[in-house]
Parts: sequence; structure tokens; C-alpha cells
Amino acid sequence: MFKPISPRCLTAIVAAVLLMSLTTCGPRPQAVGDALRGTGGTNAVHQRAKPYLIMISIDGFRWDYMDLYPTPNMHRIAAHGSKAERVIPVFPTLTFPNHYSIATGLYPAHHGLVGNEFPDPVRDKWYSLSDRQSIEDRWFYSGEPVWVTAETQGMVAAAFFFVGTEVPIQGVYPTYWNSYDKSIPGQERVDQILAWLALPEERRPHMYTLYFEDVDDYSHWRGPDSQENIAAIARVDGYLGRLLRGLEKLQYGDQVNIILVSDHGQASYLEDPMTFMLDAHVNLKDTLIVEGGSYLFVHFYQDDPKRAQDMVEVVNRRWRHGRAYTAATAPGQWHIDSNPRFPDVILMPEPGFAVLSNEGKSRKISAGDHGWAPEAPAMHGFFVASGPNIKPGVSLGPVNNIDIYPLILSVLGLDAPRMMDGDPNKLTKLLHEPNHLQPE
Ligand code: AMP
Ligand code: ZN
Ligand code: ZN
Repeated sequence: MFKPISPRCLTAIVAAVLLMSLTTCGPRPQAVGDALRGTGGTNAVHQRAKPYLIMISIDGFRWDYMDLYPTPNMHRIAAHGSKAERVIPVFPTLTFPNHYSIATGLYPAHHGLVGNEFPDPVRDKWYSLSDRQSIEDRWFYSGEPVWVTAETQGMVAAAFFFVGTEVPIQGVYPTYWNSYDKSIPGQERVDQILAWLALPEERRPHMYTLYFEDVDDYSHWRGPDSQENIAAIARVDGYLGRLLRGLEKLQYGDQVNIILVSDHGQASYLEDPMTFMLDAHVNLKDTLIVEGGSYLFVHFYQDDPKRAQDMVEVVNRRWRHGRAYTAATAPGQWHIDSNPRFPDVILMPEPGFAVLSNEGKSRKISAGDHGWAPEAPAMHGFFVASGPNIKPGVSLGPVNNIDIYPLILSVLGLDAPRMMDGDPNKLTKLLHEPNHLQPE
């Protein structure tokens, strides 16, 4: 009746039992502090009758893809549940800040991941998605992600990838987690979720995260409307079909809520993106540059508001297809506040246009991208929810991704932490039984 665990996981589980060592598929040994603060792998008695929730992130899945390309399984989930017109990402519209905002209900200024890579001026260290050591360094992460909220309230959580799940945030991991490994096929990720769902009630996780990167990858490499991306969308939709088939075989499959969400959308560069080459206009001595083509951040070695102001003025006099901002003049809805991890100067091209620091870097521009301003429609993601706690047939307008965290707490009947930017009442119309969350 339950899906068999894949041979790869089975081998790893056997190895874990024999060697009592780390595996990529089973429960990880946790530090003493974790065992004290997390569940230690057993649900508290009062959590056992709660529903289940799988939050599935499809990286870079733009808000309109479901209407544009064949996605029968997503449509099936939506037909039984509810859908938002779109999801507004946080600034900057990159993977790490947005996943962690979805997980915590906080703006990047408050949760700390202000980019996929950034220098931290307090510790003089870099955070980068390509540097495992920094990704696993708890120092960079503030706020309380939903799996920590669950584990600290006696509810077992499991992750087949999600930004932050590989880090002992507040000393707590999800009971089950995996080091990010792009090469693990989607089917295997789904089968592991089903295997966790088949555990005995005391140990069966209630909160799951699942992540697929295929759509983001192909839309970068070949463009959002390329055949390759459409094929990636179909592939990911197929993973969801596999999950649905597995849930149907589960006696308690009808107790499982599903949230489909994406971190941002995706757009093509114009045929001529008229790349603004920053170093042709200003002196970049003693600065650190973080750039993706669709945005450029300048960090000064030393705080210098006058220099930032001058740089912004020069750029704005000369650039026709974008704008420069200091942290103080950036649009309020970007919520930069005063987090020193944000850059001194931000250069934001209009969607489709590009900015780079010098000619040599023009190679970096890919077919598709994100990173443009969160207000740009092409940067908007998608949101579908379905399951026993979700009212079917509700059509929401645009949703802010920080409001998803309080929705999950309501579904799982968890208490909210003190720090939360998300509005607990924004998505309650999705619930059969609105549960008005109040901070502790
Ligand atoms: P972006 O540059 O914003 O498009 O980032 C997307 C990339 O983030 C994907 O291609 C993934 O490979 C990568 N990614 C997602 N989650 C993780 C993770 N937990 N650890 C390392 N890389 C990740
Ligand atoms: Zn992404
Ligand atoms: Zn991407």
C-alpha cells in the first residue's frame, strides 16, 4: 500500500543503521541542543491528530505558466482547491531571499538573506549559494522558518530541500533533511516524501517541504518560453502526478494539504538589452559588486553616504533604461529598512534591460532571468492550495509571499512566533476554519 523506498535511499538507510552516521535520506543525527529543542523525531501526543501539509516550491514558475502550458496535475490540484492570481515576491527577486521569506513570513531585511550572495559587514564574511560552508552557517539566518516552528511545538517536520533546511536555525533542523544536491531526480524526491508519509503515526512528519529547480534552470538557459522550459514544466507537473498517485494510495491521503508556490517568475532579456556598463560611468575602486545582469549591487568598503548619493546621481543622469537608488531612496515596498547587508547603491534595469559592472562580464547574460523589481509582472510567482483545510473554489487576487507562513501555521494549528511581517488575516479566506493567529 505504501510506496517502496528507492534503492538509493534504502542503501543509505541501511548504512545509517549500521554505521550510525550521516545519510542523505534518513534522520540526521542532531546536536544535543537540537534534540532538546526539536521533536527528536517523535510527534507530541497533541500533534498527532493534526493534518499534514506539503509545501512544494517550483523555482521560477511564473504566475501565468499554468494558463500557458500543459500542466494537468497542477490543474487537478487547483480544481480541488484554490488559486491566487499571482504571488508578489520580495526584493530582490532571487531564490534565496524569497524562499526564506516564504518559510519565515519575514522580509529579507528581517530574516537576513538579502541575496543569493552578499557580504556581511559585521563579520566580514560572504554568504553565497555556491559556498556550502556559508549556506550551512546559522549566523546568516534570522527569524523562525516554519519547520522550526513545527519542531519546537512538538510536530515532526521533513524537507526534501528548501533554503534554510540544512541549517540548525535556533539550533533546530527538521527531523528529516537533505543536503542540497541538484542531481537527485524529482521522482526520487517525491518517493521520499511518500516514504516519510508512510511512517508510523508517532514519527510521521506533518510538515513537509519539497523543491524542484528544473523550471528555473531551463528558463535561464533557454528562455521562459523555450520548448526546453515547456518540457521542464511538463516534467515537474509529472512529479506532482506521481505525488498525487502516491497520496491516493495512502489511507489518510485525504488529510494531506498541498501548497504549490514559486519564489519568483522569469523574463527574457530583450534582443538588445542595451547593457549599462557601470564602470564606464563611475569609479568602482574600493567596492564589492554583486551582479546578475538583471540587477547590480554596489557595496562600499567604507560607509560613505555622499559617495553613494553622487554615484546614484551620475547613473540616473545617464541611464535611460533603469534607475539607481541608495538604500535610503529605494522604493518603500522593497523593505530595505536599515539592514547593513543590503548594498550602498542598487542599480535596477527595466525588465528585459541589463546592467553589468564591465564589458568582460557581458557573457553572464543568460536567455532568461529574474532579479528585476518585484513590481514587474514577469517577476511574479504562482500559488495554489488544496486539501482538507482549504476551501475549494476561492480565487484570490495578488498575494504577498510573506503571508504564506501564517497560513501554514493556521492549517497546522501552530502558534505564531513574535516576529512576523506576514499578515495572519490575509489568507484566512482560504481556510474552512479561520484561525486568527496572534503573536505569542
Ligand atoms: P537563482 O540564481 O536565484 O536562479 O537560484 C536558483 C538556483 O538555486 C537553483 O538552480 C538551485 O540549484 C540553487 N539552489 C536552490 N536551493 C539551494 C540550496 N538549498 N543550496 C544550494 N543551492 C540551491
Ligand atoms: Zn529561484
Ligand atoms: Zn533563477
